Amino acid sequence: MSYLDNILFAILLIIGFGFFASSVKKIIRNINLGVDVNRKDNSKARWKNMALIALGQSKMVRRPVAGILHIFVYVGFIIINIELLEIIIDGLFGTHRIFAPYLGVVYDVLIASFEILAVLVIFAVTVFWIRRNVIRLKRFINPDLKGFPKSDANYILYFETVLMMLFLLMNASDLHLQNVPDPVFHKAGSFPISQFIAPIFNGMSNELVVLLFEVFWWLHIAGILVFMNYLYFSKHLHILLAFPNTYFANLNPEGQFDNLESVTKEVKLMMDPNADPFAAAPVDENAAPAKFGASDVQDLNWVQLLNAYTCTECGRCTSSCPANQTGKKLSPRKIMMDTRDRLQEVGKNIDANKGVFVPDNKTLLNDYITPEELWACTSCNACVEECPVNISPLSIIMDMRRYLVMEQSAAPMSLNAMMTNIENNGAPWQYSQQDRLNWKNEN
Ligand code: SF4
Ligand code: SF4
Repeated sequence: MSYLDNILFAILLIIGFGFFASSVKKIIRNINLGVDVNRKDNSKARWKNMALIALGQSKMVRRPVAGILHIFVYVGFIIINIELLEIIIDGLFGTHRIFAPYLGVVYDVLIASFEILAVLVIFAVTVFWIRRNVIRLKRFINPDLKGFPKSDANYILYFETVLMMLFLLMNASDLHLQNVPDPVFHKAGSFPISQFIAPIFNGMSNELVVLLFEVFWWLHIAGILVFMNYLYFSKHLHILLAFPNTYFANLNPEGQFDNLESVTKEVKLMMDPNADPFAAAPVDENAAPAKFGASDVQDLNWVQLLNAYTCTECGRCTSSCPANQTGKKLSPRKIMMDTRDRLQEVGKNIDANKGVFVPDNKTLLNDYITPEELWACTSCNACVEECPVNISPLSIIMDMRRYLVMEQSAAPMSLNAMMTNIENNGAPWQYSQQDRLNWKNEN
């Protein structure tokens, strides 16, 4: 590589990482639009969750075929990135396989394992493509997965295949030049896979093979930088966010709902005959009026917003949702995708208005998620249980329902009748307090 190449490479790296850093900044800003919630407790259990679920993929393998194939892709992604470090150093300083002399035989083992992983990744990605496009598993063709999200999954599969092929072709041309021999391409590495590809370069001039090596090298590294920046627009953000998401996930038993603090305070006041309603904290006149539940993304907490960015759109939640299975409009995957779409929309609004959100007459409720979807939920927690990265679509559904009930009195008729009965009779039935045992006489 010439000095000019090294400089060009440095510029490419700065642009690639610069764009990526700006996307990360936007994601953090958007997540912080959410209401605060304390997830600093019990760090031991949180680290354990992250190690088992994000790193160990423990929930992925509950569906073994997809789970094991996903492990190939995931381990391939993590381990091959070690080689990326070497590629970056070689690109910046014009060296050739700089780690080889320092690592000796370990280097050979590493390169060999990268190559085997590359083949496993290509195999896994091919099976994933067949499951999506030929077998057409129901969760991949559900109506809630349409438009860009549907194509996004395929784009990534193509991308990963091309990157792995470029990686193997780069190694194969390198191996050919090492065997010629060429003074720059000194002997380094062990190539169990690309040794079978290298013969395609036989009969070509050294100059041509060097040129091809450089083309593969540049396309490979440029492809990785493009991939990294594509993540911001894609469901594949989960390869980064699965770690914080599992760390900050709710540790309470599924089914244990949190109480709204504002409601708890009011109930305490109502129940305590000695309570002085004016003894509360001094009123801050500038504070936003308390809002019960959530109608837009800013009313959700930051973990729910992190959930939305982490969703892999795998559809395991929707495929196990009893409401969806029985033909209701609800899809927990769509709840997460809608939340992310709305959050992105709010983020763009803030970017366009010098850092301030200008009301756009839209909300997550109604413009993205309808009351019909929300009321179809049985609150069974199957979606939470199934999610491979510990996302809770149910918590968003419940907060939006709370808004409908407490801010808009817009519960379905049957629920309104029950709530009125509880308010008047202390029980869900229409009998007065003294007749409350009448329920057992009903058929
Ligand atoms: S909690 Fe609601 S959304 Fe989740 S699986 Fe059950 S019915 Fe579906
Ligand atoms: S919420 Fe979880 S299970 Fe549902 S689509 Fe997203 S990642 Fe998959």
